[in-house]
Amino acid sequence: MALVNENYLNLSDNYLFSKIASEKKKYIEKNKDKKLIDLSIGDVTLPLCPASIEGIKKAANLLSKKDTFEGYPPSSGHNFLKEEILKYDYSPLNINLENNEIFIGDSSKSDIAHILDLFDTGITVAIQNPVYPVYLDSNVIRGNNIIFFNDASEILDISKHIDIIYLCSPNNPTGQIIPKDRLKEIINYAIKHKSLIFFDSAYEAFIQGIDTVHSIYEIADAKKVAIEFRSFSKTAGFTPIRLSYTIIPNDIYLFSKSSNKVSLNSLFKRLKDTKYNGPSFLSEYAMYNVYSTNSLYQLKENIDYYMKNVKLLINFFNSKNIIGTTKINSPYVWIKCKDNMSSWDFFYYMLDNFMILGTPGSGFGTEGEGYFRLTGFGTREDTLEAIERMKNIL
Ligand code: PLP
Repeated sequence: MALVNENYLNLSDNYLFSKIASEKKKYIEKNKDKKLIDLSIGDVTLPLCPASIEGIKKAANLLSKKDTFEGYPPSSGHNFLKEEILKYDYSPLNINLENNEIFIGDSSKSDIAHILDLFDTGITVAIQNPVYPVYLDSNVIRGNNIIFFNDASEILDISKHIDIIYLCSPNNPTGQIIPKDRLKEIINYAIKHKSLIFFDSAYEAFIQGIDTVHSIYEIADAKKVAIEFRSFSKTAGFTPIRLSYTIIPNDIYLFSKSSNKVSLNSLFKRLKDTKYNGPSFLSEYAMYNVYSTNSLYQLKENIDYYMKNVKLLINFFNSKNIIGTTKINSPYVWIKCKDNMSSWDFFYYMLDNFMILGTPGSGFGTEGEGYFRLTGFGTREDTLEAIERMKNIL
């Protein structure tokens, strides 16, 4: 008889976004005549930019000819894309990385979850509350001990040994950024306490302020303790074609029970070689074409479009004195639910009264209870119509 991994039974019943998708389906089936506005899941709505499409066509052309056809890509991605990442994402920030420190993959979510294979089970991790639910779920699956913190400053007061500190900046869902000086303190703490930092900067391209960094390696000594996750899903609108990368500096080590040092970078390479067959050539080439034809401005135009949606929503909520996001640094709007409703009560209130779908804050952690997230990734038309519908919210 096959035994189950009991840790899976400790997960909450549904992955947050699957539950929202099923509520959406039910609502549409019952209300065929009504137009639902979906501002829940953080998925993009603008088409791929022209340079990405051009890249996909070029890649298809290469694959269509015997001389230029290639099969499986390297498990951590092609050098041609790594060179562009170094040139455009890191050199302008004065960060030097080696090619082998970049692992191109098809999803940050899977890198974030799978890297835990390399750690002992039962380790202790510190996770922000509220935050992107994958950090919590992937640690529950491993049977790890979890310490929650609300504000990043609280990490500095944790006296118990922490193996991994998860930082999401800008935070999904709250949009909060961790200021530079705080990050420096956390890096010093990690060095002192022999912790590692998992820095998720999936939304760095949406940062509008200057008080923080786009990459943790902008801060001295980060390479000793931090790995960084980046995704092209939101930055380049690649949710349908998938592409991401993870940076693992060569200087980071884990320890075996007999105290031998093992390079995390080499172990992650082994994990990728074992479990993946590399990212899609078409997606890699799409992004390569964006970088190499100086077309990053096309991505910026799309990001500006989404951020305009965010500003419209925030201005609206401010005008209604609804407490929520103050500094705009992410594609999400985080608001306090009306009349102290619970997050799920407010979800149904928004659905029943305005036909607007959002994300209950409680799905991001207990501290998200009583809050609600709306996305700026909708179309302009939907965003404006949602604002119009909500005019009577108070
Ligand atoms: N990290 C954060 C904070 C996210 O919000 C998301 C997706 O919403 C991801 C990572 C996952 O990115 P990917 O689409 O590359 O798996």
